[in-house]
Amino acid sequence: MKSFKITTLPGDGIGPEVMDAALAVLDLVGNEYGLNFEIKTELAGGASLDQFNEPITDSVLQSCLESDAVLLGAVGGSKWDNLPQEKKPEKGLLKLREVLGLFSNLRPAKIYGPLADASSLKKDVIVGSDVMVVRELTGGIYFGNPRGHNEQEGFNTLRYKKYEVERIAKVAFELARKRNGHVTSVDKANVLDSSQFWRNVVHEVHQDYQDVPLSNMYVDNAAMQLVRDPKQFNVIVTQNMFGDILSDITAMITGSMGMLPSASLGENHAMYEPVHGTAPEIAGQNKANPIAMIGSVAMMLEITLNQTEAAHRLNNAIESVLDNGIRTIDIASSDSIIVTTEEMKDEIIKAFKQTDQSISNSRELVKEKNE
Ligand code: NAD
Repeated sequence: MKSFKITTLPGDGIGPEVMDAALAVLDLVGNEYGLNFEIKTELAGGASLDQFNEPITDSVLQSCLESDAVLLGAVGGSKWDNLPQEKKPEKGLLKLREVLGLFSNLRPAKIYGPLADASSLKKDVIVGSDVMVVRELTGGIYFGNPRGHNEQEGFNTLRYKKYEVERIAKVAFELARKRNGHVTSVDKANVLDSSQFWRNVVHEVHQDYQDVPLSNMYVDNAAMQLVRDPKQFNVIVTQNMFGDILSDITAMITGSMGMLPSASLGENHAMYEPVHGTAPEIAGQNKANPIAMIGSVAMMLEITLNQTEAAHRLNNAIESVLDNGIRTIDIASSDSIIVTTEEMKDEIIKAFKQTDQSISNSRELVKEKNE
């Protein structure tokens, strides 16, 4: 039986509630596909501060380093807002990214047909759009030195090394190849030297991916094109700060934060988490939407654990539940059947089990392979 080590960090607020849903789904996937998930649940963020006075401990970091993948709920809340910077719950997250070397952040923004009305854009503009933003996460202007400010000036440094651009470009091309898609490299090469460099290196890497179409776009144009016609994009690859901004634009096109999964990948490690935070105002009320967290499990199955069929089946289960009008409160409309976090999880599990029998043969094959 294939075995995978997973460290789960439920975190704070709604984190533990959506993580419970993820664990139930993993249990089901394990049973159906003959996979053994060795799961270790650890503290991170405010929960860790309360117990250990640190947002993440070395022993938890070690557990993450020894895992095939990390699943994170969300961290933070007003209880810890007044702590000094280095003690804030979010510091735990930054530390985790640094220690695991997670240099690429993948944020898919897929429009679920039945939710198209939740978007601030017109339905016909967004239906059918499926964009993956690949953001460089550990370099660029957020990390460059020198940096500083005084009364007369403020400054940061935007610097990229060749290997940093090469490895993120490879991630984008590999993903686009898997999706039968194309890559748009977003930069500001008409103004910034670092962007001209970025563009040159991306084109060099592209020599090894001639089957994947590549185009370039200036970041100001990309921001405008994303809201004008998101369907023109497939995979967007870009530097840290541009990716920070563009991925929030693509996220909001889908209409709800509770729907969006994400992955952060390094050479040897991977972490999966919903894009949303701890939603303190609904925490502990069984109201949180678990879809972003369950979608993060699907990404983990596909990208790190190579269980593509299970991942697709899980995404199909989510889609079919939405098709049936079942909604948590954050995505409900007047004709929805409103459910709790637990009920949504149960519905997704039911839909997963009911998946078309025509794939059951291939499922048996996958199970045999895993055994
Ligand atoms: P948030 O994402 O927690 O909430 C924004 C809005 O979306 C709120 O109205 C919330 O109720 C709603 N929402 C978010 N996720 C939802 C879900 N799954 N189901 C239903 N509704 C959902 O962002 P915020 O309010 O800016 O931040 C709250 C706390 O979370 C802060 O302490 C912040 O620092 C932290 N945070 C953590 C992460 C992380 O751990 N990765 C990310 C963002 C914010």
